[in-house]
Amino acid sequence: MGRLIAMVASRCPRCLKGRVWRGPFRINQVCPVCGLLFEREQGYWTGAMVASYALGVPLLAALLFGVWVATRWDVTAVLITADALFIAAAPFVWRYSRVVWLHLDWLLDPIHG
Ligand SMILES: [Zn+2]
Repeated sequence: MGRLIAMVASRCPRCLKGRVWRGPFRINQVCPVCGLLFEREQGYWTGAMVASYALGVPLLAALLFGVWVATRWDVTAVLITADALFIAAAPFVWRYSRVVWLHLDWLLDPIHG
């Protein structure tokens, strides 16, 4: 439960306290609380792209369904509206994909350094 809250609040995967982000689009190099190196190697965030698909696809599906239920418009109008909402949500998906990736990598990596 603590980890889930830490992920929602975009906190460090090790101490669950330090902020991952220091600004809307600026990530901390290391955890300000425990010093964990976030970007462990060049290209580390490539894995976050996988997480962004895992977050983005269900989000888009939920938006499509939500817009359709709310409006009962025809398919084209629903697609355009849901895509517009999805683009508006993209920065949040991008931020959370990195946080989810950090936590996944932390949980899956047996050598925690
Ligand atoms: Zn930390």
